[in-house]
Amino acid sequence: MKGTMRAIIKPTAAAGAALATDWPIPQIGPKDLLIKVKAAAICGTDSHIYEWTPYAQSRVKPPTPIGHEFCGEVVEAGAQVENIQVGDMVAGETHIPCGKCLLCTTGQPHICQNMLILGIHTPGVFADYTSLPSVCAWKLPKGFDPEVGALLEPMGVGVHGALLGSLHAMNVAVLGSGPIGALAAATAAACGAKKVMVSDMEDVRLEMAKGLGATHLYNPKRDDVVAEVRKETGGYGADVVLEVTGVPAVMESALKMARKAGRVTFIGLPNNPIVFNDFANDLIYKELKVSGVTGRTMYETWYQVTALIESGKIDPKKVITHRFPLEKYDEGFRAARDRVGGKVLFLPELK
Ligand SMILES: [Zn+2]
Ligand SMILES: [Zn+2]
Repeated sequence: MKGTMRAIIKPTAAAGAALATDWPIPQIGPKDLLIKVKAAAICGTDSHIYEWTPYAQSRVKPPTPIGHEFCGEVVEAGAQVENIQVGDMVAGETHIPCGKCLLCTTGQPHICQNMLILGIHTPGVFADYTSLPSVCAWKLPKGFDPEVGALLEPMGVGVHGALLGSLHAMNVAVLGSGPIGALAAATAAACGAKKVMVSDMEDVRLEMAKGLGATHLYNPKRDDVVAEVRKETGGYGADVVLEVTGVPAVMESALKMARKAGRVTFIGLPNNPIVFNDFANDLIYKELKVSGVTGRTMYETWYQVTALIESGKIDPKKVITHRFPLEKYDEGFRAARDRVGGKVLFLPELK
């Protein structure tokens, strides 16, 4: 498709963003799709790009459209695309695999050695149109709510972390109740966890988790979370701890509140070095099973997310607190930065 479009771009190597009204519509290759964006969501990574943190400086090359969590309608398909047709609604898998490396050829393309991330290494989705390799398109049923479609990617991160092991009848602690943490808590509740104990510094975010099935809420401003979790679990500690804050002290507390032989999954990304003061007692002697999680498996996690939503046990729209047209990009990023709400969406067709 020829022509120009609106796009929220990173114009220069500095803090802030801009709305371009005459950005060229992406031209697609033979294996790509051109997608009309229906809904897109701001991720923590986008806030890094907006604020122009060192994380963003080392990855993003301005000027470029930003954003990666999205859903839209396919309006053009490359000649070699077989799995998707014009008119299909799709959500975007944001990890773009090379298809050739050790990880890709052994069933783990979501951690491809040569991975590119949509909207970070490639042009983003906060725009009227975006391009996507067809291998990264997750086809949605006809009439699927685009707002839910835009949430599948971040929800998948929480689901991937939560479902690394069993949750049924288990005591699960979730540290951090932003959208990913709240949806990880929802996953634990939907999968039959006994107690779903959630901590966050913001009470509104705890309420969000409560609405999704959390049974116990803790605010570190008031509560000793490690002590509370131990108390709730007969002194043993949680069977499963999902760490979604990336805050070094909270990451250390995740080990402390896990029971012996428990599972700790790290999802939140730390910006700073982490000190584990008592690694022997907190991890080694406990025989903890510790792992990291990034993105979603391609595509087991997407099937799991779809099944959880179709079961009716999780309504991901409960994490949406703001909706803006592209023009109100500064307001959107401000709402995301203040971290009091949940997901902030850009709806290109909103007036
Ligand atoms: Zn994201
Ligand atoms: Zn690869």
